[in-house]
Amino acid sequence: MVKENYQIIFDQIKRLRPENTPKLITVSKKQPQEKISEALDGGLRCFGENQIKEGIEKFQSLKEIYPDLDIHHIGPVQTGTIRKLFGLFAFTHGVGSENALVELIKQANSRKAQIKYFLQVNLSLEGTKSGFEKVNLLKVLKSISNYKSEFAEFHGLMTMGPSSGEPALTKKIFKELNQIRNEFCPSAKLSMGMSGDYQIAAEEGSDYIRVGSAIFGERILR
Ligand SMILES: *Cc1c(COP(=O)(O)O)cnc(C)c1O
Repeated sequence: MVKENYQIIFDQIKRLRPENTPKLITVSKKQPQEKISEALDGGLRCFGENQIKEGIEKFQSLKEIYPDLDIHHIGPVQTGTIRKLFGLFAFTHGVGSENALVELIKQANSRKAQIKYFLQVNLSLEGTKSGFEKVNLLKVLKSISNYKSEFAEFHGLMTMGPSSGEPALTKKIFKELNQIRNEFCPSAKLSMGMSGDYQIAAEEGSDYIRVGSAIFGERILR
C-alpha cells in the first residue's frame, strides 16, 4: 500500500512537472516501524522526520543496512537540540530564526560535519507557524555571505501552506515564496507542499515536496 500510494503521488507530480520533477520526501513521523519496513521493501529511501530523537531511533541502525538512506529533518530547528542533527540528517528544512542559523553553523563547523539547510519562511503569518517573516528573511539573505560555512550549506527556502488549506491562498503563498527565491536567491531550492497541497506546490515550482499521511495513512505513534 505504501509504495502504491507513493507511486500515485509521484506520478501526479511528474505529470505536472515532467521536467525538473520535484523530489518526493516520504514523511515517516509517528509511523510505526512496520510501515517504514514496508516503505523500504518498496524501494523508498528518502524520509522526513520532524523530531530528531524519533528519527534517530528509527533510522540510525537502518543506515547500516541501507547506506543510501536520505533522511531529512523537516520540523522547526530548536537551538538546544541542533547538535543531534549531525550524523543522520543530510538536510534540515526548518531553520526559522537567526539564532537557530547561527547555532547550526557553529555546531557544523565545530564538528566538521556537513548539513544542508532550508530557511523556513512564515508567509501565512499565522502565529502558530514558525519561520522568518519576510522582512527578516530578506535581511538574512542580504547578508548570507556572513553565514558562509564549509560545512553548513544554504540550500533553499521552505514554507508551509495556510492551516485553512484554502487552495487559492495556498497558491498565493507558494507563488510568493517562488518569487522571493527568484528575486533574492535564484540558485536556492524550494521546499513546499504536504499531503493536502502537493499538487499546488508542484505547479508553483517546488523542488522538494514533503508528504506523510497521504502515503502512510494516519499517524499513530504518540
Ligand atoms: C508532518 C509534516 C509534513 C507532512 O504532513 P502530511 O500532511 O502528513 O503530509 C510535512 N512537512 C512538515 C514540516 C511536517 O511537520
